[in-house]
Order: sequence, then C-alpha cells, then structure tokens
Amino acid sequence: MKRTWIFTLILSIFALSAAAKVNTAYQLSFDPEKHYVDVEMTVSGLEGPEALLKMPVWAPGYYLILNSPKHLSGFETTDAQGNPLKWERVGKTGWKVATEGNSEIKAKYRIFANRQSVGEAQVDEKKAFLPGNEIYLYVDGAKDAPATVTLNLPQQWQTVSTGLKPEGDNTWSATDYDLLVDSPIYIGNQAVKKFKLDGRDYEIAVAEVKDLDLDKYADEMGAIVTAASELMGHVPYDRYAFIWMGRGGGGLEHINSQACFSDEGLYSPERADHQRWLRFAAHEYYHLYNVKCIRPFELGPFDYDQENYTDQLWVSEGLTCYYEGALLQRAGLCTPEELMDIWAGFIRGLEKTPGRNVQPLWASSYDIWLNFFPSDGNSNDVLVSYYVKGPVVGAMMDLAIRDATDNRRSLDDLMRLLYNRYYLEKGRGFTTPEFWEAATEVAEGNPLQDIRDYVFTLKPIDYDKHLGVAGLRLDRDNWKLVEVADATPRQIKIRESIFGKK
Ligand SMILES: [Zn+2]
Repeated sequence: MKRTWIFTLILSIFALSAAAKVNTAYQLSFDPEKHYVDVEMTVSGLEGPEALLKMPVWAPGYYLILNSPKHLSGFETTDAQGNPLKWERVGKTGWKVATEGNSEIKAKYRIFANRQSVGEAQVDEKKAFLPGNEIYLYVDGAKDAPATVTLNLPQQWQTVSTGLKPEGDNTWSATDYDLLVDSPIYIGNQAVKKFKLDGRDYEIAVAEVKDLDLDKYADEMGAIVTAASELMGHVPYDRYAFIWMGRGGGGLEHINSQACFSDEGLYSPERADHQRWLRFAAHEYYHLYNVKCIRPFELGPFDYDQENYTDQLWVSEGLTCYYEGALLQRAGLCTPEELMDIWAGFIRGLEKTPGRNVQPLWASSYDIWLNFFPSDGNSNDVLVSYYVKGPVVGAMMDLAIRDATDNRRSLDDLMRLLYNRYYLEKGRGFTTPEFWEAATEVAEGNPLQDIRDYVFTLKPIDYDKHLGVAGLRLDRDNWKLVEVADATPRQIKIRESIFGKK
C-alpha cells in the first residue's frame, strides 16, 4: 500500500509539473448570420505522444447535462507548421490527438451557437453570448493551464463585456481553465456604465438600455457590493461585470461577473418590480461568495464530464436567496417592512408546495440533475425547490443561531467562518459534516437540531417557535409577519438586528 501511495504521489507530481507547462490560446471568429463561432486553439508545452482535448457537458451553477459537444463540428488538428495530425473520438467529450511528440499543436473547430440560456452559446446579428463551457476545449490533465482569448470582432459589434482580465488588442486572459469557463463573454453594442469602488473596477453592461438611468443602477449595485463586502470582510476579485443581456429567463453567477437575462423588473418604475430586479442582481452577485468561494466539497475542482452530486445546494442557493433581501436592506434599498414581506413570501411559497411533505431539502439538492426543469405533471406534489425551502430554512437558522447566542452570533458569522476556513485557508469546499460542525461552532455549541431536521427530514417548520425569537409571528391568512404586542427587549433587539430599525 505504501509503495503504491508513493508511486501515485510521484506520478501526480510528474503530472502536475507537466500540466504546469501547458498554455492555451484561443482565437475566436464569428459568422453571426449562420450562428457560428470559429475557434482556433493553440496548445503549447505538451509532452508525450498524445493529448486528449475535452469539452464540458455542463456549466457550473447550471445543474443540467447540456451535451455541448454535439454542437461542435469540423474538428481538425495540425502541428505548429500546419501539418495534419491524426485524432480519434473518445466518448462524447473527448478528441484524442496523436501529437507525434510535438509540444505545440493547433485545433480548429466550429461551434453552432443558437440557443438561449445562461449556460449556452448564442450568436446572431445583434450579439454573441459565449459561456466558456460551450466554446473552449481543454487539455485533459492540464486544467491549470493559463489561457488567452483573442476576439476577431465583426465590424458591427463595438463592445466586449467579460470578467476576464484585459490584455489589450482584443485579448483577454484567465489563470486557468476553471476561471476561463467561469468568465462568459458578451459581445455586441450594449450600453456600458463603468465605476470604481474601493480600488476595484466595475461595469454594468445592458443589452437593451432603453431609457435606463445607469448612474442610478451604478449607485445601487455599489451599495449592494459595499453591503456584501462588509458582511464578508474580503473581496476576492479585481474587477466585476454585471452583464444584463436583454429579454429572457434566468441568470448565472460567476466569480467575476454575472450574466442575467432581463425582465420587466429592470425597466419598471414600480418599486416592487425594481426591487425584484435588485434582488435578482444581488442574488447573482452574492453567489460569488456563496458557491464560488464558499462551496460544497463536490463543487470544485469540477468534473466536467458528468453530474457532480451534492446534498448542499440548499446552502449555495437557499442561503443566497436569504441574503438577497438582507443585502438590499443593509444597502438601504428596502425597508424593514419590505424585508419582512420578502420572508413572508418565501414562507408562503413553501407552505403552498405540497412536495414539502414528500421530498427532504437535501434530496432537492442531490436530485437537481433530474429535476432542473421539472416536467412531470406531479412535480409540485413530490418535489420542493431549494429556492423555495432553502431561504426559509436559512431565515430560521439565522434566528436559531441568534437565539442560541443571545444575538452575539448570526448566519453572517457562519458565512464568514466557511469563507475564511475553507476558501481562504484550506482552498477547498466543505463536506456536509463540516458544514454542521461550523454551524454548531458559530452557535456556541448548540447543535441546531431543529434546523438539521428541516434539512434532513420532513419535519414541518415551527414558525411560531423561530419567529418568536424576534418577537414575530406568522399571519397565515394574509401571509404576513406580524410583530407581537408584548415583545421583550431581547426580541426587539434581535428583530432590529435582522430587519433594521423602523
Ligand atoms: Zn442562485
């Protein structure tokens, strides 16, 4: 066993040192009319007789098998001088190239890009949206390789928005493949508002600007960024792009950007609609902490070949939903009453879902690969979304931690502990037991058994017990949180800590 272990270690070190030399460079050209991206990939620093190039079948954050390789055509490969090299297919994700000992090879291929979702590529006359998972092949065993992307832009497109690092001459860079995949590029004629905050660069890019007040949006996003920075005590990026892509559904989080399709909320003068958009943007923004940095163990390094199962997406998504409202309130963008209504809305959503009595929260996470777009007619009866139950459990957890610690600690402390311990210190995700150990530590030894039960069993949520900690009760007739008349100073203190002073 020991010998095998040492042998494996030596192999790993060898593989790491080999991988460290690999560099990738991508040139992208476009045929907007026919929806194609033409990719020329140059790989240098290779060793050995062959290289396996692969394409992901999913986009982190978009928990669905996309089968992107089926949109790739015209694959061919040569050495640096242009002499053809042999290749063969390996499964649905791989192209194995006989490098003949060349340290540098080129691969060319086309991507048909005519799909609209936050995880899929779309190129048309107006724009190109390029999620990395559908564009870039990677060298198997060398995901650490740094990458550059050079864009050959059609004349009709003036503007490029991405979280990638600009290198000049229409070239951008990423330190490794995971970051490259996590940095979509939007190209078109979008309106852009740039601003600086605490020495970092921000950009709001809007595909359909109409008569939007981008200065106001910059102020609002700046306030949300500030609230999140104060919550976490650290900012892990140099630049961040808010990419709002025009009409459609969904948004996807990235560590240095967000790519969101817009709805009426972006444009509406109505406060409730506008707040809904701000919550959406705040949600995708807070994800840069919660899921990109604070992440379940299974979510990175990613296996791009297949489903990556975890029972903790209720943490990644549910607690992010919880912080949508919290960040808005702390940013001065919603009142205490409005935050209570946000909580009541989450609770109403859960209580109106029959599936809450059938599927436990952990399973909602684990089985997401089967249910990303639930299509069975009985979905509502047998499934509960972590977007629905997750924020409710998050809210009850915040109250339970405050109750256990006499309001000395809160969910904020748990997020900071996970960020500092697992992302900054250990550089990895946390296992499910580690999450609960951290939660118990923050709760000063209290195991938070109710909260565990809400995650792992079908136990109904005792709203009166938890809301009572903040001197609140649930009015089920009107789906409102109501302040109890005889609240104690402790209850009022906890309530004001969460919702702000009226
Ligand atoms: Zn989310």
